[in-house]
Amino acid sequence: METNMKIAIYPGSFDPITNGHVDILQRALTIFDHVILLLAVNPNKQSSYPVKDRLAMLRAVANTFLSGKVTVDHTNGLTVRYAESKGAIALVRGLRAVPDFEYEHEIYAGNQIINSNIEMVFFMAKNNHEMISSTLIKQLYQSDVDISALVPKVVLPLLKKK
Ligand code: ADP
Repeated sequence: METNMKIAIYPGSFDPITNGHVDILQRALTIFDHVILLLAVNPNKQSSYPVKDRLAMLRAVANTFLSGKVTVDHTNGLTVRYAESKGAIALVRGLRAVPDFEYEHEIYAGNQIINSNIEMVFFMAKNNHEMISSTLIKQLYQSDVDISALVPKVVLPLLKKK
């Protein structure tokens, strides 16, 4: 990888990845040369899909982008430390409503203490995406509601009924 490449990390639970996440990813790619979709394994947050399944979904999405633009990885550690190890300059996050802001504000405070040189870059959710969450998608999916407009096409076959 060229050293002057602007690399960003997009960390998240992606449980599962949604069109809301993909929109943020696409917009991040207008600013950064390379984005790493990072499955941040959070032991305090219960997940529905195992890490292996979520990584498969992320890889399916990454494959829909130009080769080399998006890669996938996972970490059990701090996302800032992961960013440092990859020479990334920023962490990308999305903001929907006020609760997201409060949550992200707290994460920002922690990340600043760890390494204030790694910027956090926030994208506001588009109107048509601000109601999309992984939780909502799982609820609709379990109730047999058509979610094909909310999830990337390549992810649909990877969702499994519980
Ligand atoms: P985490 O557990 O780290 O919050 P998520 O997968 O829930 O992981 O979200 C990852 C990031 O994507 C967060 O910054 C979240 O606010 C953002 N995000 C999630 N859904 C959307 C959406 N529909 N539109 C914009 N941003 C979103």
